[in-house]
Amino acid sequence: MNKPRILIIYTGGTIGMIEDPVTHALRPFDFTHLIDNVPKIKMLDYVIDNCQFDPPIDSSDMNLEHWKQIAGHIDSNYHDYDGFVVLHGTDTMAYTASALSFMLENLSKPVIITGSQLPIGEVRTDGEENLITALQIAAARSASGDPMVQEVAILFENYLWRGNRSTKMSADNFNAFKSNNYPSLAKIGLGIHYNEDALHRADDPLPLRTHLDLDPSVMFLDLFPGMTESTLRHLLATPDIKGIVLRTYGAGNAPTEKWFNDAIREALDRGMVILNVTQCVNGGVHPNRYVSGDLLAATGVISGKDITCEAAITKMMHLFGQKFSTGHVKEALGSSMCGEMTDNITLR
Ligand code: ASP
Repeated sequence: MNKPRILIIYTGGTIGMIEDPVTHALRPFDFTHLIDNVPKIKMLDYVIDNCQFDPPIDSSDMNLEHWKQIAGHIDSNYHDYDGFVVLHGTDTMAYTASALSFMLENLSKPVIITGSQLPIGEVRTDGEENLITALQIAAARSASGDPMVQEVAILFENYLWRGNRSTKMSADNFNAFKSNNYPSLAKIGLGIHYNEDALHRADDPLPLRTHLDLDPSVMFLDLFPGMTESTLRHLLATPDIKGIVLRTYGAGNAPTEKWFNDAIREALDRGMVILNVTQCVNGGVHPNRYVSGDLLAATGVISGKDITCEAAITKMMHLFGQKFSTGHVKEALGSSMCGEMTDNITLR
């Protein structure tokens, strides 16, 4: 068998950061520094190439142009490599993972995103283990010789998660990510144990279709008790916004007051697309469970089911970026495109 060929795309993040000698704050540093701190990488019998953001960034600076760069690198190198490892800051990693899952249609090779909580140069760093494990997963093959992972996934400490189901759960713990509504794709302990039932399988792979166009005309609108009508109307009238991810309570509930539903209905009548996503980290929207959710559904707000906020907002960016009609965007938001939501969500 030929050696696995892996491309590392280094975007920045804590994993490659060094301490500023004056302020002691961490700032991104180059790939050579990172890789020099992982001599063990030579023990992997792989062909490993790399490309990097210039300059590498803190992922709080991640934007749509950066996502286009990452997807573009994968697209132009797709046939030359068996897998891709994206090194990325943890802060917006779940957004990038979600965006890439929509941008890379028909993906049938591994795109493994990882980073770390402690910089690679620190004695107790989690970066070395995360990088080595990500490379092993990107190179892994099933018994039939196909890539073990055929989707965008986040590898962090003990778990591999579906990218568009993941959320950053902790600013401190090494196990920083979780997918609250979908099982882990693999558990990492002494060995790497894949959950084959949860892994996406491209049984009859179609050619990769990369969609680089994204539309940023979207926003979150978070409900909170005490929100006034003028605040709500002001937010719904934000200029240049086509789509709103409405972060509601519990099973997708919102105030039942007339002013609230009138304001939402008027925004929908103006052509706004509104997706209902729960503020809860676990479970999803069940629009007909309470009157308060029922009313919202009756106005024409779409149920986001158990989608994460990260997947919801990036899915909207992707759909509007394709210049689809409002009707088509609404329809696509209501069902799963690449495993980001459970279509037949039932009460658990
Ligand atoms: N601020 C850093 C980043 O997201 C945090 C990290 O990498 O853990 O780039």
